[in-house]
Amino acid sequence: MYRAKRSKSRKAALYDSTLEQESQQLLTIEQKLRRVIANGELDVWYQFIYSSEGVGAVSVEALVRWKDEDGQYISPQLFIGVAEESGLIVKLSEFVLKRVCEDLANKLIDDGISVSINVSSSLLCRPHFAIEFVQTILSHELSPSQFTVEITESIALSDFEQCLRALNTLKTAGIRISLDDFGTGYSSLSMLKQLPLDEVKIDRSFIADFETDLAHSALVESVITMSHAFGYDVVAEGVETQAQYLRLKQMNCDMFQGYWFAKPRPIRHVAQPSCVEI
Ligand code: C2E
Ligand code: MG
Ligand code: MG
Repeated sequence: MYRAKRSKSRKAALYDSTLEQESQQLLTIEQKLRRVIANGELDVWYQFIYSSEGVGAVSVEALVRWKDEDGQYISPQLFIGVAEESGLIVKLSEFVLKRVCEDLANKLIDDGISVSINVSSSLLCRPHFAIEFVQTILSHELSPSQFTVEITESIALSDFEQCLRALNTLKTAGIRISLDDFGTGYSSLSMLKQLPLDEVKIDRSFIADFETDLAHSALVESVITMSHAFGYDVVAEGVETQAQYLRLKQMNCDMFQGYWFAKPRPIRHVAQPSCVEI
């Protein structure tokens, strides 16, 4: 069940003997994660997002980082699922938001650059989440308009009505709402219509091969046109080459994020963005 829940499509998983081993590994991750969260040993890195209109970044995405005792970084893809299943996601997310607020309040991120924060559906639909999120921002004397909340289509599988209420609370407070990893989940199209969105992020799996895969290219172009028809901005994730960027720009994509522009970096390198001429 947990393996099925962790898959992006959240459909089904077959039992096999490796599951025993896997669940032991997950338990170890959970125990270690509990400790690093309690000790405040997580970090937040930032990745710049660029607009098609001009030089310089318009925003950054905050990405949690966990360095193991042996100095290796553990991928969020491995531990976010564990955090969600174990309830540790509450403390993890509080840590990330607090750290982002401190970095903004301490002027470590340039004025005019907004910050996108990933929020798990399991957290979004918890009672009081949205109110507490806004209160944390205000308690640091920051403006909610400096923030974007990134959610995924998996909210369709949570308590959808509660998630919708939370999104409306965030939006009313002035926070932008972004639909992350668009196209990988479940009922993508109905999500576009039902959610109070400002932005759609096209999943990088479509960008990776859209120059050679005609179906992906048609899909990316349609998503851009459709999102614009709804009045949403479009961000392309995982832009790794100049050719991808130029093609996306031709398709009227509004914003770009990916290794070709900048990799995620620790806060001490955020104040000096690599100036990309685009
Ligand atoms: P995401 O929100 O879609 O974030 C983008 C991921 O793509 C990041 O991986 C980023 O490092 C990676 N990426 C960006 N550009 C490129 C590129 O050009 N090529 C490739 N190959 N990868 C690129 P990361 O940091 O490993 O995070 C993975 C996922 O973990 C995130 O995907 C997000 O769903 C989740 N995550 C990360 N931080 C948090 C957090 O603070 N809270 C929650 N709830 N989830 C988080
Ligand atoms: Mg994201
Ligand atoms: Mg994404």
